[in-house]
Order: sequence, then C-alpha cells, then structure tokens
Amino acid sequence: MLMKARASGTDVKTGGIALHNLRKRYAGAVAVDDVSLSISPGEFISLLGPSGSGKTTTLMMIAGFEMPDSGQVLLDDKEITRLPAHRRELGVIFQNYALFPHMTVAENVAYPLRMRRVGKAELELRVRRVLEQVHLDSLASRYPHQMSGGQQQRVAIARALAFDPPVLLLDEPLGALDKKLRHHLRNEIKTLHKQVGKTMIYVTHDQDEALAMSDRVAVMHEGRIRQVSAPQDIYRRPADLFVAGFVGEVNLIPVKFTSGVVQGPAGERLPAAHCPAVDGDATLCVRPEHLRLERAISPNSGGVRGRVTDMMFVGDATILEFRSDSGLQLTSKVLNISADCMPGIGDACVASWAANDATILTQ
Ligand code: ADP
Ligand code: MG
Repeated sequence: MLMKARASGTDVKTGGIALHNLRKRYAGAVAVDDVSLSISPGEFISLLGPSGSGKTTTLMMIAGFEMPDSGQVLLDDKEITRLPAHRRELGVIFQNYALFPHMTVAENVAYPLRMRRVGKAELELRVRRVLEQVHLDSLASRYPHQMSGGQQQRVAIARALAFDPPVLLLDEPLGALDKKLRHHLRNEIKTLHKQVGKTMIYVTHDQDEALAMSDRVAVMHEGRIRQVSAPQDIYRRPADLFVAGFVGEVNLIPVKFTSGVVQGPAGERLPAAHCPAVDGDATLCVRPEHLRLERAISPNSGGVRGRVTDMMFVGDATILEFRSDSGLQLTSKVLNISADCMPGIGDACVASWAANDATILTQ
C-alpha cells in the first residue's frame, strides 16, 4: 500500500528520519544514551563507532526490532516509535545476509513482494529490475550456498530494495567479506545509492568505509553521538579527543594557550589557527600527513625540536617516527612522490605544520 502511494504519487521525497532523545538500557548497561539525529530524505549517513558503542541498538530502534525506553523515532514527520517492524516498511540488511537457504535468488528477492501480495506480472518485473541493479540477473536461479559472500550480500540488498522502501538500514553489511571485496562492494553500494536515491543508514566500525561512502558521519561512543558532520569535517575538525583518535591517525601534543599564543611542552611556539576562546591547557591535534620534519633549523622557527628515531617504508609513503627534546613521540607521514629532502634516522629536526592543519581541543 505504501508502495502504491509512492508509485502513483509525485516527486515528494520520502525517507526522512528523526530521532529524538532515544535511550535504551539493557540489564545493567546503557546501550543508547540520549541520541538525537535528523536524517534528510535520500541522505547516506553512517553510524561509526567501536564495538559496543550503541550503533546496532540505534539502528534496531529505527527498524522497530527494539523499542526505546524513552524518546521518539519519526519517519517523514510521523511518529513510528512503537510501530512494529513489519509495519514500518523499511529495508534492513544484516552482516550475515539472512537469506532463505531453500529458496533461489529470485525467490528470496520475490519473498517480500509475495508477503505484500504483489501480482505475478509486477512481481516478476520488479525482481528482474532489482537483480539487474545489483548485477545478479544471470544468477537468478542459484541457491545461496552456490554463491560467494559478496554475491549473497547483493541478494540481501536486492531483497531489501524489492518492495521499494523509503529507507535502507544496513548493519555492517560488508563485515564478513575480505578487504578487496569490501572495497569493491562499498563502491557498488555507493553507486546504487546514487541510482535509487533512497535514504541509507549504514552502521560500521570501519572509519575508511564511513568516510568514503557517507554524506555525513555520526561518530558514536558509549551510547552517545559525539559528532555529526561531513567526512571532511570529521577528519579535519574533530570535535573532541575521542573523534580525533578514532577517525584516522593523530598526533596529540599537550599545549598551553594564552592570548592567541600556543606553547608546547618546552615552551616553544606552535602553529595553530582555530584557537579556543578561553586560555588554559589544551591538546593540539595534527595528522601525520600534515606534520613536516625539517632539518634546516632557524632559531625563530615555530615547532617542536627533536630527532628522527625510526623510519618505515610502507609503499606509497614513508612513516617517520620523531622524538622531541621534551620527550613527545610524534609521527610524520610523507608520500613517496619525490626522493628529495627526507631526513634520516638520528637527524635533528623541527616538527611543524601549517597553522590551519592543527585543531586545538580543550576536552
Ligand atoms: P555496536 O553495534 O556499536 O557494537 P550495540 O548496540 O550492539 O553496539 O551494543 C551496545 C551495548 O549494549 C553493548 O554494551 C552491548 O553489550 C549491549 N547490548 C546490546 N544488545 C544487548 C542485549 N540484547 N542484551 C544486553 N545487552 C545488550
Ligand atoms: Mg553492532
């Protein structure tokens, strides 16, 4: 019915989700703690966080498989908090595929349409169309056990798309696949998202995946959302030390901030734009690819003095380990695009960076 309404309707964009102050406790533990989030129709958003941070529980409350202790879930401005899962009409895709083993690919994909009593002709048309979308049209009569993990997951995606839900919920869908296949399938899911234009809420603990796929990333920790931003902002302007450390590699330098001047542990001046409003102790974050190690030391240059202690060739880049005179351990990553001016182990250097590449965090 929902499907018919949308099919015959105009271009009204559906699939907006709003979460208001969601909380969920299990015996003894808070799984989700006051989560609020507004997701636009057609958006691709990831819930990113370590294991146990509340991602699945949040997704299951959107799906209707878990009920929150308090708070609300809205779909296109209508409250669905207590609506059972089968009446929400949302597509759900799990890590373990959850296909019916005794049904062929086509029967698996047709199943949700049969449940909705879609007529034979339309059912066949839809099954064919979604199998084409996930490039499985030639394998329609296979059984799940005759397919690779990547192919099975594509069947699960096709099955979730078949009944034209406004929102797809994906819980670590690539978690069981090897790295190369993950990479391949994440691009396919991204392309599919562009094609079908549906809202996708994607749970993952893999930061690269979240950054590469999403319009926005919500970073979760201990049941709370710590930051929701575009991937570039999550990486370049982390809101707190947890986000800075979880998403990518980062150098953390304890600093003192006084009237616009940032001083390192040895009292040296350090480059930083975006300073906090209040003076005091803070942490300066700089990514390894932004940290430069230079041998030519002018007396007035801002930066941290020390020596290169180790270097490691990793193919596309060289990783240089650096120990400052004050005892800080820092890492610099230099792309191997030119052979010139790379310092060597034992060389005295100054570590510095562009002011705009540093983030100062006070919490
Ligand atoms: P994530 O998906 O980020 O790994 P979950 O949402 O699965 O995290 O879990 C969040 C917290 O809630 C964890 O501490 C987990 O142990 C707990 N939890 C999740 N599901 C249950 C459950 N059914 N019973 C008891 N505790 C649970
Ligand atoms: Mg999970």
